Amino acid sequence: MATHITDECINCGACEPECPNGAIAEGDEIFVIDPSLCTECVGFHGDEACQAVCPVECCIPNPDIREDEGQLLAKAVKLHPGQSFPAEDELDETTSRFRNPDWVNEGR
Ligand code: SF4
Ligand code: SF4
Repeated sequence: MATHITDECINCGACEPECPNGAIAEGDEIFVIDPSLCTECVGFHGDEACQAVCPVECCIPNPDIREDEGQLLAKAVKLHPGQSFPAEDELDETTSRFRNPDWVNEGR
């Protein structure tokens, strides 16, 4: 699932610089995430970096856009040509929220 920002967003801007993929931008009313650029931080972090800094925790999985870990890693590789990433079977709790037992969005 790509991450999306709900209307609880208070427009603080904290999330935007944290995204490793430049997927977050200021929208007309609230900040928005481009799902074509969001990898749920797979390949970079063990949690969604936006949600980790969001004061109102409104960066949550979008149930309408479901992607598995392999798809998200492939997206990261495509978005960052020349950058090295772990192979899918080498991802761990620091580079994939799918492997993180303390995943911040668990239960949502
Ligand atoms: S989950 Fe990660 S990749 Fe997706 S918008 Fe948030 S910070 Fe960016
Ligand atoms: S950190 Fe949260 S409240 Fe702040 S702009 Fe991003 S989504 Fe909105």
